[in-house]
Amino acid sequence: MSHLHIAVLEGDGIGPEVTASAVRVLKAVEALSDDLDFDFEHISVGAGEYLKSGNPLPAQALDRMRACDAILLGAMGLPHVRWPNGTEMAPQVEIREVLDLYQGIRPVRLYRPSLTPLKGRQPDDIDFVLFRENTEGLFWERKCSHDPRADAVENAMRVTRHGTERIVRAAFEAALRRRRKVSLVDKANVLPAMAFFRAVFDEVAESYPQVETERLYVDATALYLVQQPERFDVLVTENMFGDILSDLAAGIVGGMGMAPSADIGDTYAVFQPAHGTAPDIAGKGIANPLATILSAAMMLDWLDHGAAGHAIRDAVEGALRDPACRTADIGGGVTGLEMTDAVIGKL
Ligand code: ATP
Repeated sequence: MSHLHIAVLEGDGIGPEVTASAVRVLKAVEALSDDLDFDFEHISVGAGEYLKSGNPLPAQALDRMRACDAILLGAMGLPHVRWPNGTEMAPQVEIREVLDLYQGIRPVRLYRPSLTPLKGRQPDDIDFVLFRENTEGLFWERKCSHDPRADAVENAMRVTRHGTERIVRAAFEAALRRRRKVSLVDKANVLPAMAFFRAVFDEVAESYPQVETERLYVDATALYLVQQPERFDVLVTENMFGDILSDLAAGIVGGMGMAPSADIGDTYAVFQPAHGTAPDIAGKGIANPLATILSAAMMLDWLDHGAAGHAIRDAVEGALRDPACRTADIGGGVTGLEMTDAVIGKL
């Protein structure tokens, strides 16, 4: 029997709704399994916690997270709760940096043909995974302050050999378990830091002769994701490019409510939907819980319970076979609760 201690960070906005759905699905998996026993520890982190205690990510919360086997996170940040430099509270980004979760893994899979705005695409045509470098790149100077009266503000893109090698290696390792192709996404024609990123990619690629590679500019990649999504298996890119492209990629499989993600390091891992707190729909019960449920499936994969992870993905696919089983964001009228019930029913 595996006893798994899971930290649950609900966060803000729709975070509590979607994490409650994922926890219900995990409890249903536990009830059906001889092998799994979950213990959920709820930890308050985010803009709401900042309003209560003055710190969106208390040190004690980080210690409790480190003591858990894995971390399930909803979403964090609220538009009206900001730092003096004008940026939103983003403890989820802080957690990536503090726990060194350098792999931002965003699987993009089309569950039903009707969910894509692209004409004629079948589920087999859109099935790739984006590896986003999570700890440096253009996010490097995100905490710098600036004088509001300044004439110019600069934010550097930091690319290190160590940071690039480890994310590129993770992408190649993933490709070995998939269709053996890695697409490097950069802007090596304009930015020297990106030319360096490409040079390090080329060095790592030499150790993986069995994997096909291609090198693309980020602007062309945005085009190809829409025109030729079937060309992609594994993509690897820097932090900000990955942030932007993963939203675009979510858009071709049904939107943010269909986009799971994992932030993985060598010791710790956080699983969360790729979407934010969606303040426009928070509290209405209509948020799509599938991105978080699919992130929980990734958590089970990482915890070496891949069969349970597969069972959740199959249950999501099964639930979506009913064209009436759709939350508003994917063209239907069911609530998040009803969508969750449908997934549990298929388990
Ligand atoms: P962040 O910067 O934190 O990623 P964001 O401001 O880019 O967040 P989101 O919070 O992801 O944006 O929301 C973008 C849009 O997608 C909003 O219209 C929101 O309502 C919608 N959306 C996001 N998540 C969901 C969901 N789970 N279900 C339905 N709609 C969602």
